[in-house]
Amino acid sequence: MIDTHCHLDLPRFDDDRDAALERAWAAGVTGLVVPGVAPSTWAALLEWPRRDARVQVGLGIHPQLLPELEERDDEKHLSHLDELLSCGGAIAVGECGLDGPTVATAPMERQVRVLRGHFALARKHRLPLLMHCLRAHPALLEVLKTEPVPEAGLLMHSYSGSADLTTKYLKHGCHFSFAGPVSFAEARRPIDALKSVPLDRLLAETDAPDQAPHPHRGQRSEPAYLPLIIDAMAKQRGEPPETLRRALLDNTRRLFPVFQG
Ligand SMILES: [Zn+2]
Repeated sequence: MIDTHCHLDLPRFDDDRDAALERAWAAGVTGLVVPGVAPSTWAALLEWPRRDARVQVGLGIHPQLLPELEERDDEKHLSHLDELLSCGGAIAVGECGLDGPTVATAPMERQVRVLRGHFALARKHRLPLLMHCLRAHPALLEVLKTEPVPEAGLLMHSYSGSADLTTKYLKHGCHFSFAGPVSFAEARRPIDALKSVPLDRLLAETDAPDQAPHPHRGQRSEPAYLPLIIDAMAKQRGEPPETLRRALLDNTRRLFPVFQG
């Protein structure tokens, strides 16, 4: 099992990061992807896979972080990202994307400009994109009309779009990953979204420290909870857990070849 999206670099893991990793390995997790969210974290993140190849990283600018960064520095950050990606060591571009609730402090126009920069870098460096899209699906679909999805793929993380949206993203070749909410009995949106995705486009994540699955709901999430999420996914989709695990692993390795055997 591979956790395709967890923010283990955040301060909320400062006290027990190594212990959280040990719990993950003990739970049967064999690899994880930490998506970088801010330029200030990129250099340190790149050290991680060198120490432990089970931990792989993406590099990007999260739209929710844009209000903390000067708009005039956006281009500078993207060229720095270009340089770092040229050196190797990152397996994806992101986390990047569009965030509806953040438009008040980072207008959609700026978010789209920065996102287009990530698309260009993903194509140039032949890496998949790790996409955050919260209440901004029309804007993202508009971007996809003119930004070709990188050949290496695009992963819609913690996806909760409607079945209709899923069809549109599928046409662009997107993959979809799901986190803790698929284990909440009343969470209709993510569960409907989960059921709308074909098995060969499906991935799993904890999105730690957020979105902890049942029975840890409301607490800090961590990669060791991934089996709970995968079991919930299997139950909701009516598939044998072993079939789903196998498919998730195959899909993950296709998107992130570094996890190949
Ligand atoms: Zn994230």
